[in-house]
Amino acid sequence: MTPDVNRQTILIVDDEPINISVLAQSLALHYRVKIATSGEKALTIVNSGEPPDLVLLDIQMPDIDGYEVLIKMRQQDETKSIPVIFITAKDAAEDEAKGLDLGAMDYITKPFNLPVVNARVRNQLALKQKADLLERLALIDGLTEIPNRRHYDNRLANEWRRCIDEGQNIAIIMIDIDEFKSFNDHYGHAQGDLALKQVAALITSQLRRSCDLAARYGGEEFVVLLPGCTLQSAQIIAEKIRVAVFEQGIVNEYSKNRQITVSLGLACIQAKSAYSPEYLQTSADNLLYQAKNSGRNQVVSAQIDSEFNANKTK
Ligand code: GH3
Ligand code: MG
Ligand code: MG
Repeated sequence: MTPDVNRQTILIVDDEPINISVLAQSLALHYRVKIATSGEKALTIVNSGEPPDLVLLDIQMPDIDGYEVLIKMRQQDETKSIPVIFITAKDAAEDEAKGLDLGAMDYITKPFNLPVVNARVRNQLALKQKADLLERLALIDGLTEIPNRRHYDNRLANEWRRCIDEGQNIAIIMIDIDEFKSFNDHYGHAQGDLALKQVAALITSQLRRSCDLAARYGGEEFVVLLPGCTLQSAQIIAEKIRVAVFEQGIVNEYSKNRQITVSLGLACIQAKSAYSPEYLQTSADNLLYQAKNSGRNQVVSAQIDSEFNANKTK
C-alpha cells in the first residue's frame, strides 16, 4: 500500500450511501477517500482549504445537482482546477456531452464496472500529479529553489486584499547584495550562483510564520513579504537577515567589507484601499536605495501610511 502522506485524495459525492461504499472500499486501497452525500456538502469539502485531487461526482441529487456543483467549482480560483469525473445513471449522449462541456474530465455511467472506474481514476490522478508539479515549478526560482517573482506578485496581491479586510499591517523588505558585480567579475559566475543560493537560504531561514514569504525578485535582489506584521517586528527580521548574511562571511576581497553583505529597504503600511501594493513596493525600493547611499550593509525602514519622512528609521 502507498504510505498515507503520499496518497492523493478522492472525494466521492453521491446521495446513495451504497454507491459510495462500493467505490470507497475499492479506492481506499490506493488513495485517501473523502465522502459527501449531497452537493452542498461536496462544495464545503472542496472549499475547506484541503482540496481533493479528484472528485467523483453523481449528477442526480436532491438539493443541488452534480452539474451545478461543477459550475460552482469552476467559478472559484481555489477549486476551478480540481478534476471532476461524473459517475451517473444519466446515460443519454446529450447528458454526457453536457457534463464534458461543463469541464468534467471524464464521464462514467452506472451501473459501473469497478476495474474501469479504477483505471480512469488512475489516469486522471496521474495527470493531476503532473499538473501540480508544473504549477509548483512555475512558482519556484530555478537557481535558488525559493519562490520566484511570479509567486511573490500573486501572494502580494492576495495578502494585500486580506490585510485590508482584516485591518492589518503589511510589510515588505527589499534586499540587494552589495557590490555583487565585483564578486562575479573576480570569482566567476559559478561562484556567484553559489553565493546567491547561500543568501537565498539564509534569508528563508530567518522566517518563522507560514504566511511569511521570501522570494528571488530578480538578479541579486530578494524580497520578503510579511503580512500582518508591525514595523518593529519587521525591523527585527530585517536586521536578523543582515546579520545572518554578514556572519556567513562569504569572502569578497574586492568589496568594502571584504565579504558579502546586503542592503535592505523595509516599508510597512496599514493596508487600505487608498494605497496600493505598488506604492508599498516603490517605497521599499526607495528605502533600499537610501540604504545603498548611506554606506550599504544596513537596513533603512519606514512606516509609510502616515508621514513618510517623519517615520523613517535607520
Ligand atoms: P550594489 O552594491 O550597488 O548593489 O552593486 P552591485 O555590483 O551588486 O550591483 P550591479 O547591479 O552593478 O550588479 C549586480 C550583479 O549581479 C551583476 C550580475 O553579474 C550579478 N547577477 C545577477 N544575477 C545573477 C545570477 O543569476 N548569477 C550570477 N552569478 N550573478 C548574477
Ligand atoms: Mg443520485
Ligand atoms: Mg547589488
